[in-house]
Amino acid sequence: MECIFCKIVKGELPSYTVFEDNNFKAFFDVFPASIGHTLVVPKKHYKDIYDLQSPYTENIFNFVQKVAKNLKEKLECDGINILQNNEIAAGQTIFHYHIHLIPRYKDDGLKVNPAPMKSLPVDSEFEKLLKKLK
Ligand code: AMP
Ligand code: ZN
Repeated sequence: MECIFCKIVKGELPSYTVFEDNNFKAFFDVFPASIGHTLVVPKKHYKDIYDLQSPYTENIFNFVQKVAKNLKEKLECDGINILQNNEIAAGQTIFHYHIHLIPRYKDDGLKVNPAPMKSLPVDSEFEKLLKKLK
């Protein structure tokens, strides 16, 4: 079965397109978390952040910024969360790389920000982690 975001890019499935250029398309999430919830996808199929390639990698945030500024200006939202899920464990359900722009409105009650771990790591654990990552 073909990827539904590829179908949207090709116009084989309908979408509410906000903006597009040669490389990217922005369209409404049809199960929105808030009014104006928008997805940005590269027009070429990449599964996730590990798979994404040049020139999409370095250009996608220019495009996302344009979409964000437009949402801010036209919807007069009070904030925007930008979210991007990779792999099932992180909540990815559509395996075509995409960035969520979720407009926020004062006291909207949405829970997007992560809560800290129940038992916080101590200094030595942070140091160990740093070593692993370098
Ligand atoms: P994720 O969970 O990060 O993979 O996000 C996938 C998003 O795609 C979800 O927020 C869905 O609501 C959204 N979605 C699913 N089908 C469609 C569609 N046909 N058009 C627009 N958005 C969709
Ligand atoms: Zn695709």
